[in-house]
Amino acid sequence: MIDVHCHLNFESFKKDSDAAIKRALSQGVRSIINVGTKIDSSQKAVELSEEYDELYAIVGVHPHHADKPGENWIQNLEELAKNKKVVAIGEVGLDYFKYLSNGIVEPKVQKEVFEKQIELAHRLNLPLQIHNRHAGEDIIEILKHHKNILRDAPGMFHCFAGSMEILRGALDLGFYIGFDGNITYKGLPPGESVSLPDIAKATPIDRIVTETDSPFLTPEPHRGTRNEPAYVIIVGNFIAEIKSLTFEEVRDQTTQNAMDLFGI
Ligand SMILES: [Zn+2]
Ligand SMILES: [Zn+2]
Repeated sequence: MIDVHCHLNFESFKKDSDAAIKRALSQGVRSIINVGTKIDSSQKAVELSEEYDELYAIVGVHPHHADKPGENWIQNLEELAKNKKVVAIGEVGLDYFKYLSNGIVEPKVQKEVFEKQIELAHRLNLPLQIHNRHAGEDIIEILKHHKNILRDAPGMFHCFAGSMEILRGALDLGFYIGFDGNITYKGLPPGESVSLPDIAKATPIDRIVTETDSPFLTPEPHRGTRNEPAYVIIVGNFIAEIKSLTFEEVRDQTTQNAMDLFGI
């Protein structure tokens, strides 16, 4: 299996990212992709990717940080993205959810930063890894508007949540759909009207990729503790169950999907 989205580059793995990487690899995880959310965490993701053959990096400015991406951020990002272990531009997109720790960045500013990064992905011929929270309609509209510069395999929506219409829009544009440990949680994702298992049932297996978003979104039965890439196997097992497939079928197909999308 492949964990296509995690943050071993974040503070909570500062002391033991090596141990978490080794646990995942020893349990059969083939590759791990660390994702930046601003310039410094993108830089850290690139550094980690250079330490292990199995690690890759995705670099970008998250919508939360769109109001202060830093001086010359797009040039700095472009420099980082030229590293050969960088497999996509992300996590980029729009986020209209009001977090306790973080207000909503002005949508106009979020859109500008997102569009600049769509153009960067086009210049470097890299796929996009999209972050969407309660902003699916605007994201689909922006992507459609840039359809002429999207790749054939344009990217993936990470940690998908949203309506069936948003799912259809993403699939129609050629995007893959990422699921995390929160697929094991009971009920609806906050503010959404469709459950994640129902979204996964409606997504063809040849368009699904698996992720953890570690250290966040720990799957059951480990909820309440720190998430880590080894738990992507739990996500695979859960998807197998809801789609009435074997674990091996899900493992092999989602691994192939991630290899195809990211060229790894
Ligand atoms: Zn995200
Ligand atoms: Zn993330």
